[in-house]
Amino acid sequence: MIPRAAGLALSLILLGGCHTTENSATQRQAWAIVIHGGAGTIARDAPAETRQAYQASLRAALQLGADGLNKGESALDVVEQVLRQLEDDPLFNAGKGAVFTADGQHELDASIMVGNSQACGAVTGIRTVRHPITLARKVMEQSPYVFMMGDGAEAFADTTDVERVDPSYFDTEHRRRSLEEALQKQSRNDVPTSGDDALFSTVGAVALDQHGMLAAATSTGGMTAKRWGRIGDSSVIGAGTWADPRCAISCTGWGEQYIRHGVARDIAAIYEYTGVTLLQAAQTVIHQKLDPDDGGMIGVSAQGDIVMVFNTPGMFRGAANAGGRFQTAIWDVDE
Ligand code: ASP
Repeated sequence: MIPRAAGLALSLILLGGCHTTENSATQRQAWAIVIHGGAGTIARDAPAETRQAYQASLRAALQLGADGLNKGESALDVVEQVLRQLEDDPLFNAGKGAVFTADGQHELDASIMVGNSQACGAVTGIRTVRHPITLARKVMEQSPYVFMMGDGAEAFADTTDVERVDPSYFDTEHRRRSLEEALQKQSRNDVPTSGDDALFSTVGAVALDQHGMLAAATSTGGMTAKRWGRIGDSSVIGAGTWADPRCAISCTGWGEQYIRHGVARDIAAIYEYTGVTLLQAAQTVIHQKLDPDDGGMIGVSAQGDIVMVFNTPGMFRGAANAGGRFQTAIWDVDE
């Protein structure tokens, strides 16, 4: 396994990565943060207001995280706070603005992980918790478990102080239209592609703080028109989210593919065992193991190296560090 991964990574170095952006930090950064708002993008000819709205939301979330890390807050607090803000933002498929299931409900998934301790918490099929990422953190900190589902997770939420909402709180008109379109496609037996709104706008954040802590968090409504209690990668530790003492990773894309390939953990394992950079490890998995248009990932290393790799036409994303970097982008080439 290891020589093959190393070989894949080497071939990518020779090929060069496409759809990849990185800060190859030559010196350790005191802190760094990367965020994503999902792989898959708005059309390049989308109205300027739409583009500006996404950029403004990404910048606001990135600023919140950068300010917190700059003040010395923990990576865990920061990734949770950033995701809470994105969960409240109806533009993104997480919390308010989450996609609808086939029967017109919302089933929210989230997970969070701390690199240094590898403590983690995850929830799936959440219907009444305003901030699923906070419930995932409570699973990690206030229960003996790491993963809770549906009614059980809601019952656990009853034992905590997380804010509850009526399920209709998560409704938005644009997601209802997407549901109608997705149901029509399903009735024609069209297979959804990652370019569809069906796979769109999951949110994630990874951070390195001034104390050396790494943390990762991911939150989503999943796929439009999902059925039968479908669970994607976003709540699956090792698939959509991972953190260890060397790196923190959050993924977005076609959840089934990310689970099949154990993407987040696979990237971390290649990074741990082969000596390649985090960027090279991510390129190996995203460009060589996954299929084109499956999705992307964000990562940060213990040195503060920022990595954003995707095989879709774009990925809503942003990155900031102690060295003064502060950038957001949507498509493959920064606009
Ligand atoms: N990975 C998410 C899921 O499959 C969707 C996404 O990232 O857009 O549920």
